[in-house]
Amino acid sequence: MNKIIKTNENGNLIVISGPSGTGKDTIIKEVIKQNKNTWISISMTTRAIRKGEKEGKDYFFINEEEFKEKIKNNVFLEYAKYNNNYYGTPKDKINEKLNAGIDVILIIEIEGALKIKELVPDAIFIFILPPNMKELKRRLINRKTEDKEKIVNRFRRAYKEINEVTKYNYVVTNDDIEDAAKKVNAILLSEHCRVDRIEEVYLNNEEEEIHELLVDKNLENKEREI
Ligand code: ADP
Ligand code: 5GP
Repeated sequence: MNKIIKTNENGNLIVISGPSGTGKDTIIKEVIKQNKNTWISISMTTRAIRKGEKEGKDYFFINEEEFKEKIKNNVFLEYAKYNNNYYGTPKDKINEKLNAGIDVILIIEIEGALKIKELVPDAIFIFILPPNMKELKRRLINRKTEDKEKIVNRFRRAYKEINEVTKYNYVVTNDDIEDAAKKVNAILLSEHCRVDRIEEVYLNNEEEEIHELLVDKNLENKEREI
């Protein structure tokens, strides 16, 4: 059947940020369970692999020399230094996914997010907040992935990061994981219904449709029944 409008069916570029330990990875794992139309970009990093992490699934783990070589070769859409380690988003698959109508999710810190904002102004920026700082501290400690010094650095950085929340389009507080994932999914869905996605409107056969309605036999029969 002919549709009234033709819309842009490309995927959206979604940027997720928030302080370390706030629950970004946990929420996005839940989001992709509910929404198959998404793809999470796997970053490259010079940080040491954590227990339980897998090469190529959580990150591509490379050394600093390799990372700098990739910067030179223009491999990254953006990159940043975070607590003495480099993190970067490889460019290669992003356009392919977007063109296939898939939403691409980048889970990155703020410096990188602001670079994306310059490069891709229509990307969608979502900030994940912890319910409060005490709970953030509890989550960082309980995750048991960093030593005390690194936890303090991440916690200190959290205050600066939260100050940047207004540079984002949406804010979601991660109190309950399922609830937060539902909110992120609602944002992703509603962004596909934006009016500015309309590319063409086909309402030029209005006269013809009205004429057909006037001579519609079914309609005449229905009128008689009434
Ligand atoms: P981030 O990706 O933002 O650094 P994680 O997803 O690794 O954070 O979550 C940090 C820790 O907090 C993990 O141990 C995770 O299981 C826990 N966590 C995440 N969301 C919640 C929540 N809503 N309530 C309680 N614990 C949570
Ligand atoms: P972690 O060491 O906890 O995995 O990540 C530390 C921070 O780096 C997190 O805020 C995470 O979102 C961010 N990060 C992960 N990958 C990238 C990336 O490719 N680019 C940027 N700029 N930040 C990233």
